[in-house]
Amino acid sequence: MKRLWVILFVVPLIVPGFAQHTIILKGLDKSGFPLEKTSGKAEIIEKDKTIRIKTSKGMKFYSFNDVKEVVEKDGTIIWSYEEYNALLLNQALIFSPHRVIVNTQTGRIHQSGVLHLPDSLYQKEYGFKDLAVSDGFELCKACFDSRPDIYDYDLEKQLTTQSIIAIKNRNEIMYEHERLEFLSEMMSSVLNRWPEPLKGYSYRLQIIRDDSPNALAIAGGNLYLTTGLIDMVENDKELEAVIAHEIAHVERRHTLRSFKVFQEKQLGARAIILLMATLAAASGNPNVEALSQMTKLLAEYSTVLAVKGYSRELEMEADMFAQLYFQENELNKRNLLTVFDRLATYSSTRLGYIPETNAFSDHPSIRVRIKRVTDGSFYTLPEPIIIKLAPVGILNTRWEGPITDQPPIKPKEHLSQKEKRIIESVENNFISIRIDRFYKAPSINSTTKNELFLLGSIKNNVSNHYTLKGMQLYFPGKSGVTPLSGFTDINIFAGGNAEFIGRLTLWDFLSESVAEEIINKHLLGYVSVSQISLDKEKKIKKGGQVTQIASLIIVE
Ligand SMILES: [Zn+2]
Ligand SMILES: [Zn+2]
Repeated sequence: MKRLWVILFVVPLIVPGFAQHTIILKGLDKSGFPLEKTSGKAEIIEKDKTIRIKTSKGMKFYSFNDVKEVVEKDGTIIWSYEEYNALLLNQALIFSPHRVIVNTQTGRIHQSGVLHLPDSLYQKEYGFKDLAVSDGFELCKACFDSRPDIYDYDLEKQLTTQSIIAIKNRNEIMYEHERLEFLSEMMSSVLNRWPEPLKGYSYRLQIIRDDSPNALAIAGGNLYLTTGLIDMVENDKELEAVIAHEIAHVERRHTLRSFKVFQEKQLGARAIILLMATLAAASGNPNVEALSQMTKLLAEYSTVLAVKGYSRELEMEADMFAQLYFQENELNKRNLLTVFDRLATYSSTRLGYIPETNAFSDHPSIRVRIKRVTDGSFYTLPEPIIIKLAPVGILNTRWEGPITDQPPIKPKEHLSQKEKRIIESVENNFISIRIDRFYKAPSINSTTKNELFLLGSIKNNVSNHYTLKGMQLYFPGKSGVTPLSGFTDINIFAGGNAEFIGRLTLWDFLSESVAEEIINKHLLGYVSVSQISLDKEKKIKKGGQVTQIASLIIVE
């Protein structure tokens, strides 16, 4: 009894000592999402280059390079990047984690403490690696991680390896083809003018000996064109169109994305979430059973990809980005259309003789794609729409009342203990969505409707795993509530991100004003999200997929 008293007495004393700092963060993080203000107790650890902020909902970590200042509530600056930078450069800090050494003979930049440094005669010191890079030196591959800084990169790399094997097994690659050098240069030129920031893959173009015109791109930047395709075109600009389309497959990560769909078909949605979450949770200490299951799936999928290519949806997405490349570089869209027409004509004149291995063999689908490219166009937003998700309650999935811009949520008194716990643990901006552009085209299925495609990425900002079940958008006085189709069951694991494309189907007379609302960032609506919870054995807890967190869309 006495002990309990002590505890009760101590706790209120600790709380006022928990000093709150307002943390001001600058710029964009690596996925292009803006950093934001946060508050909590900041712990600045110069050795690890991190600023740790203890909030009421757990620790958050920020890199020195992202944070501009740490400010007290009264405005006092307790840490600033500039000051820290200056101290480093003046060598005033005894321990400098940022210091690098350049080998002036090879031009390579190394970490300061390693054993493979050159003789001191050939050493040049810098306070920061970025300074050495801007002086034209190159990062040592051992000292610095040069892999693209993107989520799921390791999984994608395994997909690349397996797919290369599958393609090599079925095709003859022509390493000495006379057009190889020309086409590789053309590919570099397309990459240099690519309309989006490149993810950092290393690209390679190869030619396959095959009479039927075809092209394929796989994860990691491997592009394949057949001799049949090269012989079929009449002008090189058409090959530029094909290359742009193939690069879009790589940059939009279509191998990875279709692998995830394939996984789900093979194992079922629940099992795959379990498998992915097991691997994500166990990084560094991989679960052997989950790993071997994954390896088996990778091999199976790669064969399917080599034979069937991508789905019609992904082909259309690649067409959109090829079109964007043409649009942004003021190139003539006609070259995109003529190469499609050649492919469509080719397959119609040989109907019945098209082997399954041809990704372009689906003749009606090429005609649809031609129509889409002819009539559709891209709108790049003056500035991206950044959406933060703000949890408001647990979605009432049995709601049958009127649909409004507010999500139907369960009354607080009807929530189970578990639901209460979930909703209390989710913080504002746990997920953010970034939309850079949209694409508008007449509907393929209806002459009185238009389709608006929103393209962007989603980021999970916290340490829980989530599945996005759907997004409902609302344009007041215009379309009412419209679901964003294609935006379903997107899994994003802790700290990860994912590309998305969502489609709004609208009556002709509404589409113009809805497009305007998007440009003006007048977006209302909500997203339903379910939390993937794991227990101690890293198994999904029952019901983890049923509870849906209703989150309002907050546009920056
Ligand atoms: Zn090194
Ligand atoms: Zn394609």
